[in-house]
Amino acid sequence: MTGPEAAARPEGVAGPEAAGRPEAVVGPEGAAGPGIRRWHAELAWLGRGDVRSRVLIEASGGVFRTVTPDVPPEVVPPGTERRPGLTLPGLANAHSHAFHRALRGITEAGQGTFWTWRERMYQVAGRLAPDSYLELARAVYAEMALAGVTCVGEFHYLHHGPGGVPYSDPNEMGRALIQAAAEAGLRITLLDTCYLTGGLALDGTPTPLSPVQQRFSDGDAARWADRLAALGPDEHGMLAPHARAGVAIHSVRAVPPGQMHPVVDWSHRLGAPLHAHLSEQPAENEACLAAYGATPARVLDGAGALGPRSTMVHATHLTRHDIELLGGSRTCVCLCPTTEAFLADGIGPAGALAAAGSPLSVGSDSHAVIDLLDEARRVELDERLASGQRGRFGAAALAGAATAAGHTCLGWPEAGEIVPGALADLVTVRLDTPRLAGSAASTALESVIFAGTAADVTDVVTGGRDVVRGGQHLLVPDLPAALTQSLRPLLA
Ligand SMILES: [Zn+2]
Repeated sequence: MTGPEAAARPEGVAGPEAAGRPEAVVGPEGAAGPGIRRWHAELAWLGRGDVRSRVLIEASGGVFRTVTPDVPPEVVPPGTERRPGLTLPGLANAHSHAFHRALRGITEAGQGTFWTWRERMYQVAGRLAPDSYLELARAVYAEMALAGVTCVGEFHYLHHGPGGVPYSDPNEMGRALIQAAAEAGLRITLLDTCYLTGGLALDGTPTPLSPVQQRFSDGDAARWADRLAALGPDEHGMLAPHARAGVAIHSVRAVPPGQMHPVVDWSHRLGAPLHAHLSEQPAENEACLAAYGATPARVLDGAGALGPRSTMVHATHLTRHDIELLGGSRTCVCLCPTTEAFLADGIGPAGALAAAGSPLSVGSDSHAVIDLLDEARRVELDERLASGQRGRFGAAALAGAATAAGHTCLGWPEAGEIVPGALADLVTVRLDTPRLAGSAASTALESVIFAGTAADVTDVVTGGRDVVRGGQHLLVPDLPAALTQSLRPLLA
């Protein structure tokens, strides 16, 4: 089901608009009171400050109401759920291309570059249709939920059918992704991506769209904007209670500067996040300089695409001036360290960007692995490898990138902290697993960020609703089978 009614299905996740729908937020513990849920966390990092002990957390209507540390277990109200381990706010995966999950492992045989990897990626893209994409994305988002992700930013450019022929509903693919997120229990920001040209040759001349790339293109930015309007965001950019519209400029390779303004205008009109790939590869910079006499960051700045609502993805190969442009405009930078390593992109200047004023978020991008704890720690580990120094980013800064900063850059600033009024998202990481056994309470956050993995996440609550319990996804119970089934036809 991928029609408009599918996109409106709200039962997957309780968003802020779900406040009037208590049925969406009452789990099996509904006996605690009508629409009220309570957890007692052995340890909790609330999104700022130190780890606190014995934290009583109460939510109703999908929103935290009270958060009280140092509550002895013997005085918690009946029906309160015990949470051993360390409880965190929900994690935000700020950069995803769901279908890239099909390439996991298979592109690791042999050698190659970013550009040879991209050819394999296009083969998979060429095989997807709305039904198969729904099935694949549901499974991929369920894998994210198991890893503690409560919100995904889907950078979506596979819009049209073979040959670039629009589906009868030209947003059928986007609606499939919105439905997939609901069925996997995640919030989604659908970053509807403008993608118009095949690329830039190193001498700066534009290259035509390849047959697969035709599926990405609306022809021009005005038609991209018409299609986005037909997707039907409300005046606040909401597409469903769990889904928000965002916009994206694929890159300076795929959108000429003269076509960027409609995308920027839409971001302003809806107050919607604007994302773009930036300087992932040196060849992109070289071609951009040849074409426009400026770096990609300067081209995007000239189009009005930088600012606090904007997020630049990768930002790996930057000049000093680029860093000042991004930091000075408070543009967020989304780092995707596992993908950047898998694709041999390079190590970006995370420390310099943060020092210049850019908030940092993280994403699993190509899904070579889906593990936000791994992404977060690699921000610091890459900085160590590049600088020869330890400790530029502490555990709280890295956790903040994976939580509050990620949600904010996806247009959900009301998520990512465990504080009254925030969306009731909780991720619990057990500390008695083989990787984390022996963790000290005083450094539990350091243990989880620097040694924890997605496999240590046991319980995930999104908008007050259980999505993962005891390491089991409640909506997609046999996830390995769902992944196998959806991936097999794409790789045949
Ligand atoms: Zn990407």
